[in-house]
Amino acid sequence: MLKGRSAVVTGSTSGIGLAIARALAKDGANVMLNGFGDAAEIEAARKGIEDEFGVRALYRHADLSDGQAAHDLVTAAEAELGSVDILVNNAGIQHTAPIQDFPAEKWDAIIAVNLSSCFHTMRAAIPGMQKRNWGRIINTASVHGLVASKDKAAYVAAKHGLVGMTKVVALENAQSHITCNAICPGWTRTPLIQAQIDARAETFGGDEDAGIRDLLSEKQPSQRFVMPENLAAMCVFLCSEAADGITGVSLPMDGGWTAQ
Ligand code: NAD
Repeated sequence: MLKGRSAVVTGSTSGIGLAIARALAKDGANVMLNGFGDAAEIEAARKGIEDEFGVRALYRHADLSDGQAAHDLVTAAEAELGSVDILVNNAGIQHTAPIQDFPAEKWDAIIAVNLSSCFHTMRAAIPGMQKRNWGRIINTASVHGLVASKDKAAYVAAKHGLVGMTKVVALENAQSHITCNAICPGWTRTPLIQAQIDARAETFGGDEDAGIRDLLSEKQPSQRFVMPENLAAMCVFLCSEAADGITGVSLPMDGGWTAQ
């Protein structure tokens, strides 16, 4: 049970991050939500968490492409919730193109949001965790933290970097009760991959189901999407006392993608 713990989940207004925030709250943790989207929808999600799970749920916009904003997200959560015991670095963006056509500003944005923001939030959260000798850090990497695909230079570089930084933070805190791990999802149906589904559907005359089948069969042997709720359940386990000895690992949930 995470009662009495407080969590920051970046990129939790949508997709995997929202599922993680809800699962942590269901297990008793107060949560700080973060990310972009429609203000009324975000408020409904925030209030829904408070009403359903009886915890405190806050929201802060914080554009994580700005390192100071990433840092301030953690210090604001500490001030308002009393501590940050759990940090889930989950915000992410994507752009696909061969490297020679990859816009430099997309490279900068992906490295800033998918990698550098995790440095800034961990740097801000770890002193408090060290003081309390307890912490759980979960970095949402990807199968692309472990293997590559074409057209994803920035995303693969950022996610491999995040897997590496996860190991460093785990080693630096190995003798405490602070763990730092990465989760590595395969294809998960969220807004992040819609552009890739649309592009694939285009090659099948706009047939989305055919596009999805083609996308999954190329990489994901299960030929099913990973469910955000299942990734969230893995995060809750990593936050438990039973997972105290798991640190520095990168756990795939990928329908067999990286077994090939
Ligand atoms: P999503 O688009 O549904 O969610 C992304 C979240 O990040 C949203 O809340 C969005 O508002 C937030 N965000 C984006 N840019 C931000 C910024 N500059 N500052 C603050 N918040 C920002 O996508 P998702 O699939 O749920 O992605 C969550 C994580 O999972 C990402 O790190 C992604 O790389 C990773 N992932 C996704 C898949 C997949 O197939 N969907 C697979 C592997 C890894």
